[in-house]
Amino acid sequence: MTDKLIAKYQEMSDHTKPKCDKCFASLGPNSCCSKIACEISLEWTREKWDVDLRYIFDKDAKIPFMGPNGCKLHPHFRPHCTLYTCAIHAFGFDKNDPTWDKEYWILREEINILEWANYDKHEEQMK
Ligand code: SF4
Ligand code: SF4
Repeated sequence: MTDKLIAKYQEMSDHTKPKCDKCFASLGPNSCCSKIACEISLEWTREKWDVDLRYIFDKDAKIPFMGPNGCKLHPHFRPHCTLYTCAIHAFGFDKNDPTWDKEYWILREEINILEWANYDKHEEQMK
């Protein structure tokens, strides 16, 4: 189940990356990354995956998880970034690319189902 979820986040990252690569070409790298988004990833990863990423969190950097080759985190450690594109954020769909859009929402639904199943399992263990 967890492996499947990690694989789905990777798939989603591969799916959204081409959109952002185009942006990187025009606006320059890191155009929508922010310190607060990195902090959310740090918190999410600690709470959800029980992994402490403070050793690679550069608190003095403008974008603490950004490395020379892009984000240093696996896609499942930063879901709010992995799922994000400008069109999805602004409109909830990509009007210029319906094929891409359909695939995005299929993947997103699969991730949702796996996330909820993981959550239920975690709740069960906490009882
Ligand atoms: S989400 Fe938008 S602003 Fe951010 S990198 Fe992708 S295309 Fe650029
Ligand atoms: S993609 Fe990585 S570097 Fe950018 S905001 Fe998210 S966690 Fe930070």
